[in-house]
Amino acid sequence: MNLSLYGFEGHWLAVDCGMMIRQDLPSQPLQVPDVDHLVARGWVPSALLITHAHEDHIGAVACLWPKWGCPIYATPLACALIKAKFDEHGLATDALNLITPGDAIEHGPFTVRFLPVTHSIPESCSLLIHTPAGRVMHTGDWKLDPAPVVGPTVDPVTFKALAPVDVVIGDSTCADVEGFSRSEQAASDSLEACVAKCSGRVVVSCFSSNLARIKALGDIAQHTGRRIGLLGRSLERMVRIGIQLGYLDDFPSRIPTSDIGYLPPEEVLIIATGSQGEPRSALSKMAQGSHRELDLTPGDTVIFSARAIPGNEVFIQRLKEGLKRQGADIVDETNAPSIHASGHPAQEELATFYGWLRPRTLLPVHGEPAHQQAHQALATRLNIATPFAPLNGDVIELRGAKAERTEHIELTPQLHFQNAGRRRSSRGQAPTLSLALVVTPDDRGHWWRQGPAIIDIDGHLLLDEEAFIDTIDSVLEALPATSLKRLRRDLYAHLVADVHERTNVKPVLELQLIDAQNA
Ligand SMILES: [Zn+2]
Ligand SMILES: [Zn+2]
Repeated sequence: MNLSLYGFEGHWLAVDCGMMIRQDLPSQPLQVPDVDHLVARGWVPSALLITHAHEDHIGAVACLWPKWGCPIYATPLACALIKAKFDEHGLATDALNLITPGDAIEHGPFTVRFLPVTHSIPESCSLLIHTPAGRVMHTGDWKLDPAPVVGPTVDPVTFKALAPVDVVIGDSTCADVEGFSRSEQAASDSLEACVAKCSGRVVVSCFSSNLARIKALGDIAQHTGRRIGLLGRSLERMVRIGIQLGYLDDFPSRIPTSDIGYLPPEEVLIIATGSQGEPRSALSKMAQGSHRELDLTPGDTVIFSARAIPGNEVFIQRLKEGLKRQGADIVDETNAPSIHASGHPAQEELATFYGWLRPRTLLPVHGEPAHQQAHQALATRLNIATPFAPLNGDVIELRGAKAERTEHIELTPQLHFQNAGRRRSSRGQAPTLSLALVVTPDDRGHWWRQGPAIIDIDGHLLLDEEAFIDTIDSVLEALPATSLKRLRRDLYAHLVADVHERTNVKPVLELQLIDAQNA
């Protein structure tokens, strides 16, 4: 998840405001950056700039922007998606300012140019941030795609004209990969060859944000005599916005979800979300044989047209096993690597881009430490200074091409629970926190938790689940209770007070205690 703050003489700009999904925790909360430490220091941005519309760059805007209340600058696609989030949260959208890739804005002492690059979503921009202290290129996520399917290719002239820049804050995601990333067109061609070979139903799972892939799938369906169905709320929203913005002009009309199961299998191509094994997704339901509209049958093929996000491998493996049990054949990056195109630059692209920009210093971001190291090794080969690999929470002083880490702030990312299936329709109602615990008494009159605490939240509540479970355990340890009824009453009061203190919200607590002896 991405959030950077750039400061000059007391003025602050935020670049991106992303989230990540914690698949490893039971109710898969959203993790958002910790900005409270920064707000407490008075580091409050007077503008938020968005490089592109991926969730790891815009997913936390609706959560965190209310703490800032500043203008937001984003391209039409990012604006449309942020607007949808704001509408869901009941937030006013007048802070949103539309940027056309190529535009420049002036904000306090900053001049920022939005420079179009290619990526796995349209309208991605690198930002050239200019102050009297120097010129920084914040690349955002990018690649050099010679055939991006949607949107223009990267214009070398624009970037060469900026050389030399002082510092590049650069995407490291694929810095360990040799050569060039595959173009979106090449991935689409392989996908078409793959679909053409299938005889039964075809389900293609891709990221809903990959409009180029979705557009290509519309064409592939038409070329292979199939009709398109969409499964997944985010996908339907993206296609609707893609059509509005003119990215999906020739997209075929979709089969209503309720009809998908009745059409002859060889006439169906379904695009579905859930490639990461998300348990509530259509694909997971298909894997369990519990999807309302569609049962997979032998002869059907599920194509994974999205890479596994690190950390999700176990969930994806479980999903694939379930799909195989339903009789589906699986096509993925292991048996058909050419259907996949990374959205991030491999080594030759980095070298080409830096050849245009001639940066004096590189700070590698966006990637695991191994990717940052590979990025530094490449920079060193290119004679670009790369003094260190930034960590989350680092405070870095930039002066011309000099970069110095002056402080490290210990940040604690926050968890944001949501339950999309049961979202409350009326606004302003207190969220419901449901908690189920199995407990057992000892002979000192204390109760102990047995097994996991099951937490579910209906509504919006920022709560660190792990810290909350620690609280439950320490309250249990401190509370003697002669009966389960007593325990229930005392624990209830303590937990509501604790959540109130942590989140400033008083939830409706539904507390279920089960005595292990009677369970
Ligand atoms: Zn990203
Ligand atoms: Zn991205």
